[in-house]
Amino acid sequence: MRYIFITGGVVSSLGKGILAASLAKLLQARGYRVTLQKFDPYLNVDPGTLNPYEHGEVFVTHDGAETDMDLGHYERFLGIQTTRHHNVTTGKIYQTIIERERAGEYLGKTVQVIPHVTDEIKRRFTLLSQNEPYDIILTELGGTVGDIESLPYIEAARQLHYELGPLRVLFIHLTLIVYLESTQELKTKPTQHSVRELQRAGVQPDILVCRTPRPFSKEMRSKIALLTNVPKNAVIQALDVPTIYEVPFQLRKEKLDEVVLRRFRLPSRGEPDLERWQIFLHGLRHPKRKVPIALVGKYVELHDAYKSIHEALIHAAGWQGYEIDIRWVHSTEITAENVERKLQGVQGILVAPGFGERGIPGKIATVRHARERQIPFLGICLGMQMAVVEFARHVLGWADAHSTEIAPDTPYPVIDLMPEQRAISTKGGTMRLGAYPCAIKEGTLAWRIYQKSLIYERHRHRYELNNAYRAALEAAGLQVTGYYPDKDLAEIIELPAHPFFIGVQFHPEFQSRVEEPHPLFLAFVEASAKG
Ligand code: GLN
Repeated sequence: MRYIFITGGVVSSLGKGILAASLAKLLQARGYRVTLQKFDPYLNVDPGTLNPYEHGEVFVTHDGAETDMDLGHYERFLGIQTTRHHNVTTGKIYQTIIERERAGEYLGKTVQVIPHVTDEIKRRFTLLSQNEPYDIILTELGGTVGDIESLPYIEAARQLHYELGPLRVLFIHLTLIVYLESTQELKTKPTQHSVRELQRAGVQPDILVCRTPRPFSKEMRSKIALLTNVPKNAVIQALDVPTIYEVPFQLRKEKLDEVVLRRFRLPSRGEPDLERWQIFLHGLRHPKRKVPIALVGKYVELHDAYKSIHEALIHAAGWQGYEIDIRWVHSTEITAENVERKLQGVQGILVAPGFGERGIPGKIATVRHARERQIPFLGICLGMQMAVVEFARHVLGWADAHSTEIAPDTPYPVIDLMPEQRAISTKGGTMRLGAYPCAIKEGTLAWRIYQKSLIYERHRHRYELNNAYRAALEAAGLQVTGYYPDKDLAEIIELPAHPFFIGVQFHPEFQSRVEEPHPLFLAFVEASAKG
C-alpha cells in the first residue's frame, strides 16, 4: 500500500481535486487499484449544512454521506463509488476525540493536538486500506499550505512519511506560476515561498505541479527545481486547458504518472488504457452542433453549485457529439410575464434542486412554459416537486397548491413531509440521503430510458410527493412511473402527453461518469437536440 499526498500552495482553486483525480485515473488505467480521499480542515462535521455560496455543491455518496464536491470528480473520473470514509473534516476528527475523552479513554492524560489529533488523522489516512486491497491511496489535503488550520494534517502526513519511508509515501505540491502582464514575464517567487512553507513544516515535496498560463522554458524549469530541491523531471508544467477532461492527457504528456511509479519503484505496466475516455473527448472536441439548454436555479451565478449536473450534461453531450450551450438562468429573475423571453430559443429546460422559497415562482413559471410549449423538461428534486405543484395549480386548478416546505398552510399540500421527517429537529445528516431502490413501471418513458425495472439512485431531500393527491394527479395526466417499493413513494413523474417531460425526486447527476454517461441525461440531451 502506498500513499500520495496532494497539497496546494500560493492560492486556492488551482484544481487540486482535478489533479488528484487525473493522476489517479492514469494509474488506474495502467491497472493499479487506486482510490482517492479528501481531508478538509474546516470545523463543520460535513458540508451538508453549508450554503452553496460557501462551498459549492454538496456531493452525496451512495452510502448517504454529504461530502465535498471533489468526491464527485473522483467518482466521475475513476468510475468508483466513494463512501462516508472518503471525506474527513476537522469537525469529524475532533468529534471522535471528544467522544473518546468523554468516554474516559484518555483517563489521566492531557488531550493534545500532538499526538492525539495527529494520531487520529493518521488513523483516517490509512483507514480505507483496511477494507480493500488498494495499491495506491491518493489523499487530497484541503486548504492552502501556510493556513493555520491545515498544519495538523501536514504534520500527520510528515509523520506517516517518516514511519513508512519514501518508497511508500510521496508528496505532490500544486502551485501557481504567476504571469505579469506589465513585463510579460512568468514569476516563480510565489512557488518558491510556498515550497519553503511546506519545508518549514518538515515536508519536502517530491513532485511539483505548476499551473501556468504560458509554457515555461527549460531554464525556468531548472531554476524552479534548483530552488525547491525537486528533481527537474518532477517539475511538471500544467498549462491551462479548455476542459478538465483534457487534464489526464496533459499530465500523461508530462509523464507525471511515470515519475510517480518510478519513485515508488512500481512497474509501468505498459501504456494507460484510456480508450473510452478518448472516444468521449473526441465527441467533445468535434461537436456536430450546439444544443441550447437552460439550467434554471437560484445559485446559477456560482456554477460550482450545480457541478454534478453540469458535468452530467457534458458527459452526455460528449458521447453524443453535441456541444451543450448551457444558459444559466436565475430563477428569481423569471416571472410568468417574462418567461417566454428569458427562455427564448432554448431546446431543453432543466429545473435544478434547491431548498427554501427564493426563486420558487420563477421555477413554477419555467415548468409551465416547458409543459405548455412542449419543450423537453427535466426536473431534479425540487425541480420535480415544482413540476407537481405547477400541474396541480394549472391543470387541476388548485390555485394554492404548494409544497409545505414553502407554504406550510397550503390547502393542497401536494408535496409534504413524511411522518418520520416531522419528528426531526436537527439539521445535520437528517434528510433522506444516499441510494434507494426505485421500481420503474413498464412501457413508460423512464423504462425506455433506463431499460431496467429496478434502479438505484441517490437522494437528498426531506419532502415527498403526497400520496393523498396521487390518484387525482394521475387521473389528470401526471403519471408516477417510478416509486420506492418499501414505502410506495413517488420517485419519477412523467407527462405521457408531452414529448419529453420527466421529474425525478432523486439526483441522477451523482452517478454520471466520464466513461459511463447517465441514461437520463443522455435521453434529455438527445430529446433537446431534436428541438
Ligand atoms: N427542498 C426539497 C426537499 O427537501 C428539495 C431538496 C433538493 O432539491 N435536493 O425535499
